[in-house]
Amino acid sequence: MRKQLIIISTSLVFILTSCGSSQSVSTSNNTNSSNNPSLNAVLWQQTAGEYDALCYQAFNAAKLYLERGNFARNQASDVGEPVIVMDLDETVIDNSAYNARLILDGKSFSENTWNQWVNEADAPLVPGAREFIQFAEENGFPIYYISNRSEEMISATIDNLQKHGINAEPNFLLLKSETSQKAERRRRVLQENNIVMLIGDNLADFENQFEEPLALSERNETVKKMSPLFGAKFIVLPNPMYGDWLRTLENDDGKETRLSNEYNDKRKFLNPQR
Ligand SMILES: [Mg+2]
Repeated sequence: MRKQLIIISTSLVFILTSCGSSQSVSTSNNTNSSNNPSLNAVLWQQTAGEYDALCYQAFNAAKLYLERGNFARNQASDVGEPVIVMDLDETVIDNSAYNARLILDGKSFSENTWNQWVNEADAPLVPGAREFIQFAEENGFPIYYISNRSEEMISATIDNLQKHGINAEPNFLLLKSETSQKAERRRRVLQENNIVMLIGDNLADFENQFEEPLALSERNETVKKMSPLFGAKFIVLPNPMYGDWLRTLENDDGKETRLSNEYNDKRKFLNPQR
């Protein structure tokens, strides 16, 4: 079940329904919530039919690609079993209710609140994720989940997935131990398998070069060069709430996400043609 966060008129009354429990919070006197830069992103993910449609579109494209079966062989693995690599957060698991909670509580992301949310193990799934996972498994494509949830979260994560009928074996869950970089974990999967598809919401879920801090233009140019891969070997889910794209807008201190001076000065990225 998806969380619902609904704005009623301009009084900004939020009704957050969460997996059987609900809370109603009036934010009419809470300017922090209405000014929160994440507000529109969270609302869009939680309420826009367009969000659901994009998710279904992504998983429909993924199914078509698997049905076609015309996979390129990975150079590193000519003989391995065909497998799929999926991210978890905002790819399989929808954490928009956690982000809504942060807005309502006037808080920023913290390990503490994130751990609490994950341990509740009650997050809904991204639309279409369960059906796609069932399709892939029924058609002989095992799925490795490479996620930057920490290894201590493995049992809560398995519990959360099981609530939605997804049985992820611990050996197929490659969570974060030392580094958030995913390249090494992909390399381990590639040792004995042929990764025919990668599914994620963040560019670093697909290619090692996106693990490095890239300038905004460099990042977008790289995406352009890879454009034939999207909707085929690379399946991207929408996530307007967070991701490495925000790092390209950081100030030099890197401590806070805010619009860079370049952005403020030139407004050149506010291009309606893009
Ligand atoms: Mg993710």
